[in-house]
Amino acid sequence: MKKTYTCIVCPMSCRITVEEQEEGMKVAGNGCGRGKEYAMNEHTLPKRTLTTTVKVENGRLRRLPVITDSPLPKAKREECLKEIYTVCVQAPVHYGDIVLENVCGTGVDVLASRSVQQKA
Ligand code: SF4
Repeated sequence: MKKTYTCIVCPMSCRITVEEQEEGMKVAGNGCGRGKEYAMNEHTLPKRTLTTTVKVENGRLRRLPVITDSPLPKAKREECLKEIYTVCVQAPVHYGDIVLENVCGTGVDVLASRSVQQKA
C-alpha cells in the first residue's frame, strides 16, 4: 500500500510517499532525512502533541490550558483526553507544573501551559 504525507517538519512541506514492499518501506519525495523519519513515523505510529484544558479550583481562571510534554500515539488521543478531563488542580498553578504524570501509561506527562493565580 502506498500513502502520501505532507511533511510538517519545516516550511518546505514536501509531499512524501511511503510504500510497503517486501524488502521494507520505500520512501520518496523527502527533501532530507528528517522528512524520511517523519513519514515513516506517520506511516507506522503517528503521534501528536495534545493540548486541552483542565478545571481549576480557587483560581482567577476556571480552566487551565495544558499541553503534553511530548507527542503521544494518535490512537490513544481519546483515552488520554478522558483521563485528562478528570484532573482538577488547585490554584496557584505555575507554567510548566506537571498536572498529570504518565497519562494512560504512555510515559507522557501533561504540563500547565500558563500560570493561574489564586482568587483574590
Ligand atoms: S522533508 Fe525535509 S526539507 Fe522537506 S519538508 Fe520535511 S524537513 Fe523540510
